[in-house]
Amino acid sequence: MADNRVVQGRMVTPGKLAELVEGDPVMDAEAIADAERDCPECGGDVLSVGYMPSVTEFVTGFKCQQCDWKATDR
Ligand SMILES: [Zn+2]
Repeated sequence: MADNRVVQGRMVTPGKLAELVEGDPVMDAEAIADAERDCPECGGDVLSVGYMPSVTEFVTGFKCQQCDWKATDR
């Protein structure tokens, strides 16, 4: 599963990463990508993942690999 990445010391799938950002399980998630930005909290590397929290919505989520910081493009 090359799509899995380490976030805060844990391996996560795209769906799990989207769930971490959203706070709830999501319907579908795309592959994890490196966001071209640093975490505003700790300066760590930020990952991005596109996901569908519902059938009518597509969101890009961002999550720091090292701390609890997360955001979406909502
Ligand atoms: Zn951070």
